[in-house]
Amino acid sequence: MERYEKAERLRKLPPYLFKEIDRKKAEVKARGVDIIDLGVGDPDLPTPTHIIEAMKKAVEDPLNHRYPSYSGMEGFREAVADWYKDRFGVSLEPLKEVLSLIGSKEGIAHFPLAFVNMGDIVLVPSPAYPVYHIGTLFAGGQSYVMPLREENGFLPDLDAIPKDIASRARVIFINYPNNPTAAVADLEFFERVVAFAKKYGLIVCHDAAYTETSFDGFRPSSFLEVKGARQICIEFHSLSKTYNMTGWRIGFAAGNASAIEGLGAVKSNIDSGVFQAVQMAGIAALRGDQTCVRDMCKIYQARRDLMVDGLRAAGFRLEKPKASFYLWVKVPEGYTSTSLAARLLEESGLVVTPGNGFGDPGEGYFRIALTQKEERIKEAIGRIKAMAF
Ligand SMILES: *Cc1c(COP(=O)(O)O)cnc(C)c1O
Repeated sequence: MERYEKAERLRKLPPYLFKEIDRKKAEVKARGVDIIDLGVGDPDLPTPTHIIEAMKKAVEDPLNHRYPSYSGMEGFREAVADWYKDRFGVSLEPLKEVLSLIGSKEGIAHFPLAFVNMGDIVLVPSPAYPVYHIGTLFAGGQSYVMPLREENGFLPDLDAIPKDIASRARVIFINYPNNPTAAVADLEFFERVVAFAKKYGLIVCHDAAYTETSFDGFRPSSFLEVKGARQICIEFHSLSKTYNMTGWRIGFAAGNASAIEGLGAVKSNIDSGVFQAVQMAGIAALRGDQTCVRDMCKIYQARRDLMVDGLRAAGFRLEKPKASFYLWVKVPEGYTSTSLAARLLEESGLVVTPGNGFGDPGEGYFRIALTQKEERIKEAIGRIKAMAF
């Protein structure tokens, strides 16, 4: 074998579909075009000041310069438990049912290593955040795709999953509010997932990264609010989107004690926890005044209204989402996800994410991230209108 021939797990990675867009983006940029990037799901707003101040103080304390505990500082895990109680009415035992993560992506990617054996099936939605499938792949598991279709409100159709697949599966991943479709789920859907998971002995992994980004007074639920969920579910949360802290790398898992213990066992053999100063900043975020979160939602809501109204006026078809900071837009007649994204970029310098990049069932859509200021959104709409779709 050639020395640097990649391991099978890397060779099995899905093709990186944004390569062509990345290449075109560089090319268009080199032409001197003013690019408006509506592609990245990374908040443009800064981390709130009180969180930065807490970090500054914590970083000066030598006690925080040493290895942190593997499962997270007690103070951080208690802050998470109190936040859950406050926000969702869910009681958690901080030391058994909460785990600090180096961002929720880290926890999601490592979770299958704890519970998935070679060849085991994992139920994975599509279109989706790629990490559910990739974490499964790295653990030697096999993803069974649950397509998210518009006619089902972008919820997986559990009845369409063959019985023999479901009974060989170990884990089901779900994510609401959803990236990339911006769909939301109600408690009735979560109850159906609980019943399904109980029937087939599955662990439910709920990615709840966007529960705090919501509009028009809508308040997304935690999966753990459903009766019986604590026996079967681990929920992944992140401070990244809620407090504009994507660069800080802090998130947490909450839920069933055995699921938390398994993930903790994997992590204690791979990483050595989250920098304590960052956890102190996390405590300041979770325990502090939540006005910053409400303000953030107002900003995204205004951007959403501007962009949705503008796109509709330009002839596009889309729903006004209740949560997340994405718009999931149907491509007009005569286009594919890729050809539409290419035309927007080449003719108008607009970067959007083609839906098929999140999995085949995303074909026919593109995703817009509301991570640009209102004036840039207005500029983008002007350019789209001028293109006459
Ligand atoms: C942004 C995002 C995350 C969070 O990632 P972090 O690692 O916590 O920064 C998780 N899931 C989805 C669907 C996301 O979009």
